[in-house]
Amino acid sequence: MDSQIKKIHEQLVAKEITCTGLVQERLNLLKENKYNSVNSLLEEHALDLASKVDAKINNGEEIGLLEGIPFGIKDVYMVQGTYTTASSDMLKKYKSAYTATAIQKLLDAGAIPLVKENCDSFGHGSSSENTIFGAVKNAVNPELVAGGSSGGSAVNVAKDYTVFSIGGDTGGSIRQPAGYNNIYGLKPTYGRISRFGLMAYTSSTDCVGPLAKSIEDIRIVLNVMSGKDVKDQTTISSEEIDETAIAADSKKVTVGYFNNFIEGEAISDSIKSDFLQTLEKLKAAGIKVKELDFFGGDTLVSTYYTLAMAETASNLSRLDGTNYGNRIEGENLIDTYAVTRSENFSEESKRRIVGGNQVLSQGFSDEIYLKSLALRDQISESFEKDFKEVDVVLSPVTPANPPKIGDSLKDPHAMYLSDAYTVGFSLGQLPTLTVPQGTATGLQITAAKNKEQTILKFANFLKDIL
Ligand code: GLN
Repeated sequence: MDSQIKKIHEQLVAKEITCTGLVQERLNLLKENKYNSVNSLLEEHALDLASKVDAKINNGEEIGLLEGIPFGIKDVYMVQGTYTTASSDMLKKYKSAYTATAIQKLLDAGAIPLVKENCDSFGHGSSSENTIFGAVKNAVNPELVAGGSSGGSAVNVAKDYTVFSIGGDTGGSIRQPAGYNNIYGLKPTYGRISRFGLMAYTSSTDCVGPLAKSIEDIRIVLNVMSGKDVKDQTTISSEEIDETAIAADSKKVTVGYFNNFIEGEAISDSIKSDFLQTLEKLKAAGIKVKELDFFGGDTLVSTYYTLAMAETASNLSRLDGTNYGNRIEGENLIDTYAVTRSENFSEESKRRIVGGNQVLSQGFSDEIYLKSLALRDQISESFEKDFKEVDVVLSPVTPANPPKIGDSLKDPHAMYLSDAYTVGFSLGQLPTLTVPQGTATGLQITAAKNKEQTILKFANFLKDIL
């Protein structure tokens, strides 16, 4: 699909549509939707912004490319004055006091936020069922999960309720729901986009990124959000990616793939055969394809979850009903903390907080936490070696198709294992893009740090040959 952003921009400028009409139409769709993708609507503010865009156009003033473009925001981003619930009981009444840098940049460019989107509570999950707003339903088949944790964002884009949405990806939460709903979703290089104002889950892998229906829209939104930020010391500077620089021509690219992902037991027959067929098509198109060795899914998942649980246990310790969160009074202060936290966190979040505190505690941390840190270093070294030999790594997004709603909740361990192909790239802090092609849940294109341009260019090439 071509750029929706450009198409709408042209329609606005040519006065074929009004911004108010556009925003109202999308708000109505969001309101009526049966997919549970909405936590709260930003209706009044959105219509107010839209009328200002219309006034500008009617005055003959120029508008920027993103001006008047309606978008969605996963409900883990601070947007001043809006409810920012993380889909949790703990924060269901919390209103942001400030706005996240990434979102502010989009607002400054004139994009119009319509909705805070449903997700797994605090990003904990792979299905968007772990939420107080009801399980998000898959856009293609509503009996299946939308994927997670940015499920609401993926569904809103897939159903055209928003033109693009901003998700958050810690271990796959943009890429996996993008794959489950047949759209594009980018996890940029760690630090390319500021995390300031994104609720912290696993601070060492949390990334801000766009979900959209075209490569071009991903590029446009990525460029606007990127950049160093004094409010996030882990941010890095990056170059703007030009449209012409990502035009399809990837003949000289060498593609790697991890054989053990494809030979493992977890992969479904259809994803495996579709992936292998994709490799054949690449070879037929003259692309060099190279088999690579990598860590097994079990190692990746256990390393990721050990670190993710440790970091989230630490990050969420501030939610005690005193500093933040829905306070429930107990008999004394300690009791108040205990009741507040046990009543307001979901089962899944509690599992992670308990697990995280366990792996960090004396007697366990050497054996578990420090070992995971060492493994993470080895994973990064392995990537460094790989990207001396290949330009991109191609992999499936998930080992299987989306499960039925309800199934993941019964088996958290199976849910963790379904992240086998996404979490490794998070640990490596690499840029990686889901494209809606190649297998039923898409393909992931990954490159070395800061090589988003290579990825987008290769995605354009893949679009033409698959
Ligand atoms: N499914 C993974 C987890 O639950 C990733 C979630 C995410 O990226 N926020 O940790």
